[in-house]
Amino acid sequence: MLKVTNGEVYDPLNGVNGEKLDIWVEDGKIIAVGKGPSDRTPDEVIDASGAVVMPGGVDIHSHIAGSKVNIGRKMRPEDHRGDVVPKTEVTRSGVGYTVPSTFVTGYRYAALGYTTVMEAATPPLGARHTHDELNDTPIIDKGCFTLMGNNYFVLKFLERGEQDKVRAFVSWLLRATRAYAIKIVNPGGTDCWKWGKNVEDIDERIVDFDVTPRQILVALAKAHRDLGLPHSIHVHCNNLGVPGNYKTTLQTLEALGDMKVHITHAQFNSYGGTSWADFRSEAPKIAEYVNAHKNVTLDVGQVVFGEATTMTADGPWQYRLHQLTGNKWVGSDVEMETGAGVVPYTFRKRNLVNAIQWAIGLELMLLIEDPWRVFLTTDHPNAGPFIFYPHIIKLLMDKDFRDEVLASCPKKVRERTVLAEIKREYSLYEIAIITRAGTAKALGLKDKGHLGVGADADIAIYPKDSDPEKMFSCPRYVLKGGEVVVKDGKVVKSVEGKTFYVDPPHEDWIEDEIKEDFERYYTVSWANYPVQNAYLPRSEVVKCG
Ligand SMILES: [Zn+2]
Repeated sequence: MLKVTNGEVYDPLNGVNGEKLDIWVEDGKIIAVGKGPSDRTPDEVIDASGAVVMPGGVDIHSHIAGSKVNIGRKMRPEDHRGDVVPKTEVTRSGVGYTVPSTFVTGYRYAALGYTTVMEAATPPLGARHTHDELNDTPIIDKGCFTLMGNNYFVLKFLERGEQDKVRAFVSWLLRATRAYAIKIVNPGGTDCWKWGKNVEDIDERIVDFDVTPRQILVALAKAHRDLGLPHSIHVHCNNLGVPGNYKTTLQTLEALGDMKVHITHAQFNSYGGTSWADFRSEAPKIAEYVNAHKNVTLDVGQVVFGEATTMTADGPWQYRLHQLTGNKWVGSDVEMETGAGVVPYTFRKRNLVNAIQWAIGLELMLLIEDPWRVFLTTDHPNAGPFIFYPHIIKLLMDKDFRDEVLASCPKKVRERTVLAEIKREYSLYEIAIITRAGTAKALGLKDKGHLGVGADADIAIYPKDSDPEKMFSCPRYVLKGGEVVVKDGKVVKSVEGKTFYVDPPHEDWIEDEIKEDFERYYTVSWANYPVQNAYLPRSEVVKCG
């Protein structure tokens, strides 16, 4: 038994806001809070005096494993060269920066106090690869979202108006890929990319099927609802990265009515103007919608000035970014399922468009009133690597610091965003919500993101400091499943994390329904396709319904 004592506890899911409380841990779980068992003395006491105690961080959207992450690793030797991580007595070697190797990914997340991370986009055919790498990633718990918004079967059943088959297929695919949630990227648009095309409107018919992005979104949202999945549909909207795309984002939200939806990296979809010349923020309009509609959550995809590697299943957008920048590009087509692209990118403070993008992410976090529905991400490594989370926390908590950075951006940023006028500063309680409590709740992970009795003993202890960036960069201790894995910002023990997946209600007839098509169209055999028997040595099924 272990006791964390004398810390200032921030546990929003249990309404604890900076109170001094002792936390008792045994067998990887929290067994008591406040008053511990009177008849026993702890074997180990962790002194948290002068420190803030929070649940381990929960990242709702990051790219850490699978095919396109690997394309990123392969195409960016220059990214790794300057960030070689030697082995220590307890950790293995690797490389870091925007697309770190699996070991470094796990260590670096843990070293920031993050203990659960979701891989946001897995092509079904690549799921086995994703799981192999998730297994390989130390310390953190994880899960993956399966790409479905351009899937042949979803589109075929939808064209025939067979919603029951869409639902049954979604259930089958989640099981077959051992995944956690439905991911939708540029619905219909990535399918059109197979013909060099895209969609520009949610009511545009796609090339291969007589369906529209709106129909895809609604059908998958209904499937999500009917299957009782723990996390809502996770949507990367159409027209990502395009000036004026806030209208598409609002249309997407309106199309879904009051059904649950998570909009991911919303910064990239809150753009105004008609071209790059008059590019401006429309974050206030997105925030206004979100404030009025409780069915919506979003994560931000906050831009960090510096190096990034963009990687997304939005194949047509990546080609466009390659043309805009002249940077190297890899396109990856995944049979009948999805397609991806990878392009390195540098966000520059003196570039007006980049500086406006930076401001938009902050505006979203500061203008959306309910911290339970807006989450901190950099869409790692798309808008910047996750290692900059402490820096972003400082931007949210310190208006003077924010103004200082804003002052070093081009002057026009102040005309095209409202960031300068926003006075709000986040509290530690709110930071705990947007980085762990809120994300765990949105994901439906009941034992994560809080410090109540029964929760997983994933605990981050940060030394109090007037500089939030310093404080959140270097936790005094991080506990994962009750074991001390980080001390003074350094990994002192490497443990193995587990993978979460869902087990939705299943109808056997769908297997016969799709088998024939698999044999006809896929280049792999039916027998090789499902990863139902994938090697998942440590996993936990999260209940549906
Ligand atoms: Zn993403």
